[in-house]
Amino acid sequence: MSLFDTYCMVDWSGGNDTGPRPRKDAIWACIARGGDVQEPVYLRNRAMAREWLHELIEKELAQGRRLALGFDFPFGYPKGVARALTGSDDPLALWAWVAGRITDAPKQNNRFDLAGEINSRFDGSGPFWANGLTRDIAHLPRTKAGYANPFPEQRVVETHAPGSFTVWQLAGAGAVGSQVLMGLPVLQALRQSFPGQIAVWPFEPLTQPVAFLEIWPTLHAGQAPDGMIKDAWQVQEVARQLANMPADQMRHLLDVDAPEEGWIFSVDPVQDALAPPPLKNDCFSLPPGVDWTPVDEALDLLRSRLTPVTTQDTVPLAQARGRVLARDVVALRSNPPQANSAVDGYGFAGGLEAGPHEMPLIPGRSAAGVPFDGGVPKGSALRILTGAAVPEGVETVILEEDVTTDGTRIAMNGPLKRGANTRRAGEDVMAGDIALRAGRVLDPGDLALAAAVGQGDLPVRARLRVAVLSTGDELVEPGGQAGPGQIFDANRPMLLALVEQMGAVPIDMGRVSDDRAVLRARMDAAAEKADLILTSGGASAGDEDHVSALLREAGALQHWRIAIKPGRPLALALWQGVPVFGLPGNPVAALTCALVFAAPAMRVLAGAEWRAPQGMMLPAGFEKRKKPGRREFLRARLRDGMVEIFRSEGSGLTSGLSWAEGLVELPDSAMEITRGDLVRYIPMTGFFGP
Ligand code: AMP
Ligand code: MG
Repeated sequence: MSLFDTYCMVDWSGGNDTGPRPRKDAIWACIARGGDVQEPVYLRNRAMAREWLHELIEKELAQGRRLALGFDFPFGYPKGVARALTGSDDPLALWAWVAGRITDAPKQNNRFDLAGEINSRFDGSGPFWANGLTRDIAHLPRTKAGYANPFPEQRVVETHAPGSFTVWQLAGAGAVGSQVLMGLPVLQALRQSFPGQIAVWPFEPLTQPVAFLEIWPTLHAGQAPDGMIKDAWQVQEVARQLANMPADQMRHLLDVDAPEEGWIFSVDPVQDALAPPPLKNDCFSLPPGVDWTPVDEALDLLRSRLTPVTTQDTVPLAQARGRVLARDVVALRSNPPQANSAVDGYGFAGGLEAGPHEMPLIPGRSAAGVPFDGGVPKGSALRILTGAAVPEGVETVILEEDVTTDGTRIAMNGPLKRGANTRRAGEDVMAGDIALRAGRVLDPGDLALAAAVGQGDLPVRARLRVAVLSTGDELVEPGGQAGPGQIFDANRPMLLALVEQMGAVPIDMGRVSDDRAVLRARMDAAAEKADLILTSGGASAGDEDHVSALLREAGALQHWRIAIKPGRPLALALWQGVPVFGLPGNPVAALTCALVFAAPAMRVLAGAEWRAPQGMMLPAGFEKRKKPGRREFLRARLRDGMVEIFRSEGSGLTSGLSWAEGLVELPDSAMEITRGDLVRYIPMTGFFGP
């Protein structure tokens, strides 16, 4: 059951009528009712939008349906604004105040003048900025130079929604300031036309048949398919998603406390404070009757059952490498922000036909960070340097090496295509587009992109904390004295290092002898501190397999008999709600199982996108025959473009782990490999990513 019968999502526009042909910067709306998502509707100006919405509300009310109307602009201003302008904290009083002062005709409106008038009530250099008109407006700055804002830059919700724009910026790509000034009067008029029928979320309880919701389509919809207008695609996607959203989830997202500033629907108000939901109790259960589980099925189960368990955090770019991006990050600015030159040379209008050309040079130049002030007349050229903004009148840049000059003229040979050696504004990324997707493990290139599009901090997940524990009476501490029958604990340093290499936080829980009470206490302690517990040893089903026995006692054990060599059953369990991977004791099997199963599981728990091991097909430098029925992993390394394998497949040989730099993965089916056949080689890091 959905909370509403009909969902209509609207992408607003603060600008003027852009004509009859569907345009990206006009108003788009889309209706979804039940399973039926309609075609997006193009509304070329606000007067038409208002009329269309009026009819829609009238019809829905007449049919007795509950209607959710979403608009993609803020319903409120930052704290203190309503009081400063109206004398009351009530945001709806501010709606009336704005509505009483805005005049709106399809080709002309007074939004910039009203913004300037509001600025004049303070010290005249804010809060509004970015005059988008050619005429100057008193008290309304064009840029942020000299700008001063007596109010907060952002509403609280915007601090939870990285990439959202402030209500103060009136013009420029992605700016929403004009949409608010031109949107609130329309919403106010609709409220007055249907008194007592419309509730404005989150200011009023949703007890009326119609609700106005503030939405931000970027949160719901990604890139539009080729050939479809982005705004049209987005309203359709949001309408579809909201119509399909379970009532419980919607209720949760509607439950916010923002009586003055408002909130963006679907920005979770508690996501930073609260821990993510716990894993399901049956997350490791296998379908009944399963005998040997193929590796791919085991991985599919892990992928579908596990969910992120880490909380969120915000860090500056310099600390973000290796962290998992918690939310999609939007470009605040296009890259490049303006058209610029790709080379050092001379810029002019149009291209060059084949043959010799000459042009007068105009005085001055355009350099990176120091743009040329003015335009370049057609037929003249201007000195321009790499990265410099392309001034008005310049379309093409010729390399300085291809030009001779006496300082007042240049001579060169065509042909040269129009646009050569220039980079278009936004040719890399457009402002408002999603630059980085949630779940990415941030690498140096990601940080460059985030910086280029205007982000200084990134929302990341807390690092996954992984406890590592060895079990077995025979184990002694590495470097200590080993008596007869004793061996050094090799797994723990190996697994702790692997955890660290994966960007998680290793927690050393030491060794435990095969004593159930001690083991239980140690597991309790591990569950207190960690998001995941890796044990090694004692994980089979025999008498001395105390890890298995303890987990079974707690009623939480699942033995996954996976068709893999090396490796024995993998013991999986939840201990006090914390997942446990019981790895085999044998170091070779322990590392293989850790790489093949624990590593992808760790990524999911950490909030990172799923990642299949990244391998490559390379010629075998060995011969081997394999039976069908299970996946095999061989210790391997790459030399001179050929894959070598370790001298023995004996799984007791720890020296082979040291020798190896990766694994060869042989498929479940039978295989006969002769030298030079292609085999799949996976470097160690191929199992867990950058
Ligand atoms: P288990 O899985 O406990 O039956 O152990 C299988 C084999 O791995 C036995 O030979 C153990 O002695 C050995 N083993 C178990 N844990 C470790 C460890 N932490 N380091 C090295 N070898 C181990
Ligand atoms: Mg043992």
